[in-house]
Amino acid sequence: MKKMRAAVVGYGGMGGWHVEHLLKSDVCELAGIYDIRKERTELAQSRGIHAYASYEELLADETVELITVAIPNDSHEEVVIAALNAGKNVICEKPVTLSLESLERMIAAAEKNGVRFTTHQNRRWDVDYLSMKQIYDSGEIGKVLNIESRVHGSRGIPSDWRGEKEHGGGMLYDWGIHLIDQILMIFGWDVKRVYCVCDHITNKEVDDGFRLELTFASGQRATVELGTYNFIAMPRFYLRAEKGTALITDWREDAQVVKCKHWHENDVLPVKTAAGLTKTMAPRDEVTTDTYTVARPKSDVHDFYRHYVNAIRTGGEQDVTYDQMRTDLKIILAAFESDEKGMPIEI
Ligand code: NAD
Repeated sequence: MKKMRAAVVGYGGMGGWHVEHLLKSDVCELAGIYDIRKERTELAQSRGIHAYASYEELLADETVELITVAIPNDSHEEVVIAALNAGKNVICEKPVTLSLESLERMIAAAEKNGVRFTTHQNRRWDVDYLSMKQIYDSGEIGKVLNIESRVHGSRGIPSDWRGEKEHGGGMLYDWGIHLIDQILMIFGWDVKRVYCVCDHITNKEVDDGFRLELTFASGQRATVELGTYNFIAMPRFYLRAEKGTALITDWREDAQVVKCKHWHENDVLPVKTAAGLTKTMAPRDEVTTDTYTVARPKSDVHDFYRHYVNAIRTGGEQDVTYDQMRTDLKIILAAFESDEKGMPIEI
């Protein structure tokens, strides 16, 4: 398949990533970058990358078919719509934008111009998430009751625009949009209730962490938690199902599974606590359970570009659909509303 000529808008942290990985995907060639800051433009040029002098110049380049937008969250809409109106296909960084009305304007511009528009949900290729999804889909430990997904750091939020509300800063927009998307990819997209409490430990203006509870139409539940002030991290994933439990302690580790094989076998050694004995809380042994690890699935994040370019070329379905973009954003906005009102939000 012919390579697609692509340009990157915003040559910051993530723009630099796109420049490198567009090329590694082997389905794109790089036309150049555009950044409003002179020092970023000069840095690109010093690396031998073509830098457009203005956004208009980039949009007028008829050889460019695809534009990747990697600029602060509050500026996505204007830049994306200009690209769509210029007949370019677009990959917009996450969160795609900051309101549902804004998202609808972006989708309408793509449809009006007969071009593609998607958002960069690259964490669909994270191996820890894929392990959990594999365990869920296999049904090997029965129907899943709930999943807890956590990412804990201890360095606060970055000291750039991510700390400022006007630019769409905060951890719900930054990491929440990935973690919510992963959970919806596992459980499906029918969320009924959202309850969220945000942290403001190091930043009063935007959330520097959150704990989000999702209840699905199926009755299944998810906890999604992000912390930037956690000097001891809790496990990355914990999954409870009718016939067992799965755990991923860290995103570099394999999933561990304990499957219950003789539920009615109650003969366990009691555990001694300071206040007395307990049989109810005593751990099971190998007579009633099987313990094993699940090999990590293979994953290549460059498939994001490969699939998108293929969808553009063939008219096929893109990985991150408009409806998924709408639901991801709707959950984020409901989470903010829940935090503000101190109550669950029905969807
Ligand atoms: P950054 O601050 O490192 O870089 C942003 C760059 O955009 C800067 O160089 C800035 O000069 C430039 N810029 C700002 N407004 C512009 C405009 N109107 N036109 C052209 N250039 C402009 O930020 P970042 O970390 O690269 O984040 C950018 C986007 O990427 C955000 O939406 C962020 O959420 C997203 N992001 C995604 C991931 C991911 O894993 N998918 C990771 C990091 C960041």
